[in-house]
Amino acid sequence: MNAFDHELSQRLASLREQELYRELRRIDSPQSSRVEVDGKLVLNFSSNDYLGLANHPTLKRAAIQAIEKYGVGAGASRLVCGSLAPHHELEQALASFKGSQAALTFSTGYAAALGTISALLGKDDIIVLDKLVHACIVDAARLCGAKMRVFSHNDLNELETILQWAANRSASSLNQGRILIVTESVFSMDGDQAPLREIISLKEKYGAWLMLDEAHATGLYGAHRRGLAEERQLDDCIEIQMGTLGKALGATGGYICGSRKLIDLLINRARSFIFSTAPVPAACAAANAAIRLVQSTEGAERCYLLWRLVEKARSAMKEKPARNREPASAIIPLLIG
Ligand SMILES: *Cc1c(COP(=O)(O)O)cnc(C)c1O
Repeated sequence: MNAFDHELSQRLASLREQELYRELRRIDSPQSSRVEVDGKLVLNFSSNDYLGLANHPTLKRAAIQAIEKYGVGAGASRLVCGSLAPHHELEQALASFKGSQAALTFSTGYAAALGTISALLGKDDIIVLDKLVHACIVDAARLCGAKMRVFSHNDLNELETILQWAANRSASSLNQGRILIVTESVFSMDGDQAPLREIISLKEKYGAWLMLDEAHATGLYGAHRRGLAEERQLDDCIEIQMGTLGKALGATGGYICGSRKLIDLLINRARSFIFSTAPVPAACAAANAAIRLVQSTEGAERCYLLWRLVEKARSAMKEKPARNREPASAIIPLLIG
């Protein structure tokens, strides 16, 4: 073994010792409530395909039609010559779905977080995160170079203490630093929800901005299934709405919704958008079909079925999950030590 592989094998051994070593599991079927693993059909409790759209005939047809009309590749980044009609159609559909002025799509939610946060903040600014936000937000916070402060999960007192400190600091310095709070509406691992109304009053009190990651809520909450902000009637109070097209929407890609100015700034400054080949037309067309589908009667029925199944799973569990009232989300954590 050469020295390079020798060092890597030591690192891997250390992961194994800590019981942190992971391997890929090959699935030989489409995403569904049942998937084929090692020739066996098994029940799937771990997918984010909440509404069963990843293998839905309507999305497949849209993707196939897009391939036939626009081909498979996008050819270049959006700002060069890769900005195809399906990207623009998807962004129009997203903005009207979310009720925002404008929208921008990225190749993944991860890329959306990275590009957006580092376009908006720099070293003179402050970013304030919930302890349990997704890894892409933590990575983005590091990348942008702003001062990072973390509050305990959903702890409003700690958030306010940090905001007081941040507001004093930017008032006393010459370079008017910005303060950005980032949280999720439905948390990806614990499945609980953020106290959005309270967070919004705090950000208004201290003149901060709010970025809300609705990755696990888009397509699932609210009268138009825009997300949790819609359900709580708070859409208009959030500067930056983020989500993924890869979970309940069954396709792939990330999005940012907000004002026209926000989107224009991102087109000019978000490096993960500028320096990356545009998403393939098939993915945009599939996501666009999903956005139409979640707003239809069928979307409402699929949501209803999801909440019924969540309720059924919860009541069948011997070990009751912590929150046992309304199903807060379709994520039910079972701690197994
Ligand atoms: C999955 C996820 C993302 C990343 O989205 P992708 O499109 O999968 O890259 C971002 N934030 C949260 C909370 C997520 O769960």
